[in-house]
Amino acid sequence: MLEKKFAFPVPKKHFMPSSQKRIALLGSTGSIGTQTLDIARLHKDKIAIEVLTAHSNADLLIAQAAEFMPNVVVIGNELLYDKVFAALDPLGIKVYSGEKSLASVVEMETVDLVLTALMGYAGLLPTIRAIKAGKDIALANKETLVVAGELIMKLATENNVSIIPVDSEHSAIFQCLVGEYHNKIEKIILTASGGPFRGKDRNFLSTVTKAQALKHPNWSMGAKITIDSASLMNKGLEVIEAKWLFDLKPSQIEVVVHPQSIVHSMIEFEDTSIKAQLGLPDMKIPIQYALFFPHRIKADFEKFSFLKYPTLTFEKPDTETFRNLNLAYQAMETGGNAACVLNAANEIAVSKFLNDEISFLQISDMIAHCMGKIAFIKQPNLEDYIHTDQATRAMAENMILR
Ligand code: NDP
Ligand code: MG
Repeated sequence: MLEKKFAFPVPKKHFMPSSQKRIALLGSTGSIGTQTLDIARLHKDKIAIEVLTAHSNADLLIAQAAEFMPNVVVIGNELLYDKVFAALDPLGIKVYSGEKSLASVVEMETVDLVLTALMGYAGLLPTIRAIKAGKDIALANKETLVVAGELIMKLATENNVSIIPVDSEHSAIFQCLVGEYHNKIEKIILTASGGPFRGKDRNFLSTVTKAQALKHPNWSMGAKITIDSASLMNKGLEVIEAKWLFDLKPSQIEVVVHPQSIVHSMIEFEDTSIKAQLGLPDMKIPIQYALFFPHRIKADFEKFSFLKYPTLTFEKPDTETFRNLNLAYQAMETGGNAACVLNAANEIAVSKFLNDEISFLQISDMIAHCMGKIAFIKQPNLEDYIHTDQATRAMAENMILR
């Protein structure tokens, strides 16, 4: 029997692989969402889709609902409600729209596990509501922990809720921790692919286009996280995510660049032993692990072969060129609402970069500017996080960069 101890989330209900787990999948139309449904499709005896939500991709949401027959769907964009209702009401599927519905469907009694695969800050309130309703969380939406990690982990403990990471690095750490509950972590080593601009200098980066930034060498993901990977902000967000998930000090979290993305992350213990989890870069592996934890389910994913990858390399991240990683460490060390500012400024900056309104290097300029200007709150409550997010977005939106 696995024991629950600070950072070792264990689902309250120990589902055996033969029993059906009922899932609310938030963000079903995205990269993680569609891959989650690929797994659910193979394991209909073990997974029932109870809730599906999307923001604006009504056509895909309708198709997914017609296939998986959830009890409820939520379309975030209220203008699309009529279209989704017309398609799904005849099938007996309940249709809701808007942010409030998104936050309340997670509380449904028929939901066992909420998988948060929506993008950005939008994940925060539904995750809080789900935790308060006692639902276990499979967490892909790292921004939730970046914005309000202290609050989220406290709520999870109070409500006896497990937070099971989906992010590949955190899943790797989580998998390495199984059986190590009483052993102290010396440090964790998060691996980073380095993204499409690894080895490039600031001169090169000053003119890169969004098409170049969207070409990730190893992973196929949503647009926002792909830009975050190119700017190293993704690793910055993951460092903060790891701090909260595994209850670590900033000095216990190291980042190494590993361009092959085979070693997904590592833990060093006090006896100097290092444990790592390896595999091909395929998000279905950590998604499936989170869905079925503590069980491993047979899968026919492509297998990793050491002989096909005779050289696995590791190098120091270039934080002079890629400033975002240091900005994230700075926000983590500052604490309070600093990481909430970092996240909001980054979300606006990335969307401006994707709209061709700012250059790639200006993403970091915008974040650093907001971090220097937004009022610091040492012990924020939920209202403070909401206000910090809004104030930072307004500042970033109105910033004029030369
Ligand atoms: P995508 O952009 O592919 O998908 C995002 C999903 O969230 C879509 O279903 C989208 O709906 C929905 N969504 C977007 N904005 C909102 C909003 N304001 N309110 C409600 N729903 C919204 O993202 P990814 O799947 O790539 O990433 C999802 C999360 O998982 C992110 O936090 C990311 O950091 C994390 N993650 C992703 C990985 C990956 O490989 N993709 C790896 C590790 C973590 P619609 O399509 O209708 O617009
Ligand atoms: Mg990751």
